[in-house]
Amino acid sequence: MNTQTIALHLREHNLKVTPQRLKIVESLNTYGHLNIDMLYAEVQKSYPSVSLATVYKNIALMTEKQLLEEVKIPESKSVFEVKKAPHHHLHCRRCGKIEDVVIDCSGICRIAEEKSGYLVERTETVFSGLCPDCRSGS
Ligand SMILES: [Zn+2]
Ligand SMILES: [Zn+2]
Repeated sequence: MNTQTIALHLREHNLKVTPQRLKIVESLNTYGHLNIDMLYAEVQKSYPSVSLATVYKNIALMTEKQLLEEVKIPESKSVFEVKKAPHHHLHCRRCGKIEDVVIDCSGICRIAEEKSGYLVERTETVFSGLCPDCRSGS
């Protein structure tokens, strides 16, 4: 995604285009999933005087406007990503890598509904374990 596309994406979500916001989305496009500290470090590379509070506020607003999505990782810091079609996540407990995985979980949702009587509207699953690199011990 180039800068113009990101700027358009921000406007579509009723967000003013600022250099910091562009940098946040650009970093997430490059790395996929980043926590607040990582995003802060990325923004600081281009804007050394920026405060953590400002970066935090920008991320919170962009999440509220549904441009970004927070992914809660058990026993670890939340990461953020550019919102896209629903998917689940893989988390490596050794190296901390987080990856997307697209799986149809409707079967599990149906079982949960049958057992509880709830109408399940969404589910977020984090599969934790060892990534292929950590598995092979490299
Ligand atoms: Zn790993
Ligand atoms: Zn994701």
